[in-house]
Amino acid sequence: MIVITQPTITDERIAEIVSHIERAGVAAHVSRGTDRTVIGIIGKAEPTLAEHLRQLKGVENVVKISKSYKLASRDFHPEDTIIDIKGVKIGGSNLVIMGGPCAVENEEQIDEIARLVKAAGGQVLRGGAFKPRTGPYSFQGVGVEGLEMMRKAGEKHGLLTITEVMTPEYVDICAEHADILQVGTRNMQNFDLLRKLGTIQTPVLLKRGFSSTYDEFLNAAEYILAGGNPNVMLCERGIRTFETYTRNTLDLTAIPVLQGLSHLPVISDPSHGTGRRELVEPMAKASVAAGANGLIIEMHTDPDNSATGDGVQSLFPDQFAQLLKDLEKLAPIVGKNFDTKKEEAEAFAVWQR
Ligand code: PEP
Ligand code: MN
Repeated sequence: MIVITQPTITDERIAEIVSHIERAGVAAHVSRGTDRTVIGIIGKAEPTLAEHLRQLKGVENVVKISKSYKLASRDFHPEDTIIDIKGVKIGGSNLVIMGGPCAVENEEQIDEIARLVKAAGGQVLRGGAFKPRTGPYSFQGVGVEGLEMMRKAGEKHGLLTITEVMTPEYVDICAEHADILQVGTRNMQNFDLLRKLGTIQTPVLLKRGFSSTYDEFLNAAEYILAGGNPNVMLCERGIRTFETYTRNTLDLTAIPVLQGLSHLPVISDPSHGTGRRELVEPMAKASVAAGANGLIIEMHTDPDNSATGDGVQSLFPDQFAQLLKDLEKLAPIVGKNFDTKKEEAEAFAVWQR
């Protein structure tokens, strides 16, 4: 159930409504929008509570949300959520580009790739220090040292950083080093991990499980939101279908569907979504045309020889830069802001120091 308040409501009135809800033995979650404030009721309330709340001053309406997820739903929060990380805004009309290797390999590798991501106009450096590999004999990542290498590269080149966290025990150390924490497809329903991520405020990019429905995906996001962390982005990264030509089937439909059902930013991952380098560019463009709020793309300086993982789907630096130039032209046509020049200018300033 949610309480929709009148646009002019004062903070005192909101506090009264919250205490009324809490006295009924359920929790209240206040979400302030520019026009109105919505108060979510979490827990099983007595049927009479809705009627009592309707009579309170400042309440416009009380609506039952029948979906199993509440805080993630657009009914609860009609406006797009915009996550501001050190001035980079994710959500709404901003297009955010995250680029980098599948895995952090060594200091020189991540530093050089960070330089190229920034010069191309990207805002976020991606790279896994802990890798969830399908087989136990594949490269598992360089671990905590990799977090440090990434942080250094991000700071030097003026990029935010995103890295995957696989277990609740590593959440704090990953959050100390990275600006965004990624939950991988294989961990979308690792509920202990999701609960732990709900206890911090670091933004989380939650990848869709490769066999998950939209409902399951949004319920996974709900775990993080219900724990108290409102900074969640959803990521479509391809699902498993009968087709074997591609690694996964990038579900482009998920982008507008999720944006309709939820207020959270939706990021597309055409790298894992296709598993083939030549398909990354068209699917990246299609994702932006479908309304994605951002892209996460694998790029490597030597994808065919030295990359420790996912080389076949990683773009070469010049392909990445060309894609971003093309997206700069496409973005305004579909109502998004993206400016590679601004990032280029910043990259140049860093380089001069
Ligand atoms: C990754 O981003 O490198 C990754 C492992 O992604 P996913 O969890 O989508 O497979
Ligand atoms: Mn990868």
